Amino acid sequence: MAVDGPSGTGKSTVSRAVAREAGLPHLDTGAFYRAATLAVLESGVDPSDPEKVTKVVDEAQLDQVDGRMFLNGRDVTDEIRGPEVTAAVSRVSAHPQVRRTLVEHQRRWVERHGGRAVVEGRDIGSVVFPNATIKVYLDARPEVRAERRARQTGQDPDEVLAEIRQRDAYDSTRAVSPLTVPEGAVVLDTSDLDFDEVVDAVLSLLPADC
Ligand code: C5P
Repeated sequence: MAVDGPSGTGKSTVSRAVAREAGLPHLDTGAFYRAATLAVLESGVDPSDPEKVTKVVDEAQLDQVDGRMFLNGRDVTDEIRGPEVTAAVSRVSAHPQVRRTLVEHQRRWVERHGGRAVVEGRDIGSVVFPNATIKVYLDARPEVRAERRARQTGQDPDEVLAEIRQRDAYDSTRAVSPLTVPEGAVVLDTSDLDFDEVVDAVLSLLPADC
């Protein structure tokens, strides 16, 4: 199952709950981009320099185990949610070679887990797994997304809204794999739904033999 959409739509919590209910492994591809960004920041390389960024990301050992993200064997799950990584991740993710490397990581991860998983991100149904059995695109009004994020992080909602708008602009206008509704995806606006309603709606898309 490919779950795409911008941040603050409930993508992560919904994907995790759906995977748990369906007994499937769950892959958060945003965590790969965030861990790659942390590697770039720690190396002191300019996130806008394609060659240097590509080298750092190619050399980084990235893995996700039981929902925890590892960079060179170190658990960076909490660190990658920090403001420095959040501010730089869209720039790092826009480099075509970075995407090629991470897409390979993600495909191998799913293969290692038996080829069946709930995978969430921005380009899963369009690029990483265009033949996914089910494609879902979660969306919500920007103000609602900002409010949800602010509640999670304790930040000021207006600040989060500005940050969300900036990341949306980067993610949806980049040349390679922009955030878009994948062909064949079911679009679900979660603005006026509660968590259980979204999870139920997504679960109802799963075939009975899944
Ligand atoms: O999902 P999350 O907010 O953690 O993703 C962080 C960033 O990683 C996104 O804003 C986007 O720039 C990038 N990303 C991506 N492709 C994915 C997943 C995330 O470009 N499949």
